[in-house]
Amino acid sequence: MNSRILIVDDDSAIRESMRDFLENSLYTVVSASSGEEALDYLAKNTIDVVITDIMMPGINGLELTDTIKKTYDDIDVMVMTGYSSDHSYEEAISKGASEFVFKPIRFEELLLRLKRLLNERQLTVERYQMLEKLKKLAITDGLTKLFNSRHFYNQLDLEVERCNRYNHSFSLLLFDIDNFKEYNDTYGHLAGDKVLIRLGQIIRTCLRNMDSAYRYGGEEFTILLPETNLNEAGIVGERIRSKVESEKFVSNAGESVTITISVGVTGYRLGEAVSELVQRADQAMYASKEKGRNLVTYIVAKSDGKNKKKDN
Ligand code: GH3
Ligand code: MG
Ligand code: MG
Repeated sequence: MNSRILIVDDDSAIRESMRDFLENSLYTVVSASSGEEALDYLAKNTIDVVITDIMMPGINGLELTDTIKKTYDDIDVMVMTGYSSDHSYEEAISKGASEFVFKPIRFEELLLRLKRLLNERQLTVERYQMLEKLKKLAITDGLTKLFNSRHFYNQLDLEVERCNRYNHSFSLLLFDIDNFKEYNDTYGHLAGDKVLIRLGQIIRTCLRNMDSAYRYGGEEFTILLPETNLNEAGIVGERIRSKVESEKFVSNAGESVTITISVGVTGYRLGEAVSELVQRADQAMYASKEKGRNLVTYIVAKSDGKNKKKDN
């Protein structure tokens, strides 16, 4: 990684010699003769580490450090000062400096400290990336790459809260693969897994921007449809149902097989518990099963609690 270093010193001889030395060590180096010039440069350019003198006319190195640390999350500062200076290591660190070196600068020492600092930065980046990866893994279903059921309940809680606060509507869609046990028994469990993977891909192509899809259980899926009334949700459900039906799943023996799903759709009734909503979506899905499968059923959430079933 080619790190970018900004040297800030009002003494041009120091600036130039440091610059030459660090450039020879293969860093990209720029310099500024004052704190003001440095801040100007940072506003327009990307820099990894600033190495600054403390005693400078205008903004001094400690003030510069303070401003940089308050303005940028990802810039490290090394502070240089003479032995006779009144400024202390503690002062520099308290402003957010990561390193402190004494003048006259011993270049080898400067380089060691700089390398250590850049190493630490790299580790921080890697730690962050690893954490992001873990966060994603924790909410993703390994097989279908859709979100998992843990994330479903978290998002459902958030959506319910949002709806109750802003008086919004949202719908929940739940579906289950028809006769999937038979498919597994006929073609094998691995072929069944392939169906689930393909289904995950199909669902993704049917979602709108705000929608999110989850593998709710083994062969059951849910879709959260924010800002969506029951009619619109029914259209999404019908789109997924017909897309799955028209998809040709190929068995290991090269046979073309049709898969169908039974869908249940319902809307959130303000104030009701999450469990009531999920239960109603489940009821709607089971109604589709009872009526012969490969169907979409909606249940209108009545404010008096008496639900009304409706075929699509
Ligand atoms: P119905 O139309 O009533 O839903 O019938 P069904 O056969 O789909 O329902 P049932 O609940 O009897 O069977 C569900 C099947 O789903 C049984 C189970 O082996 C299969 N299944 C669940 N999770 C997975 C999985 O991760 N991979 C595979 N291959 N099969 C799974
Ligand atoms: Mg099932
Ligand atoms: Mg099933």
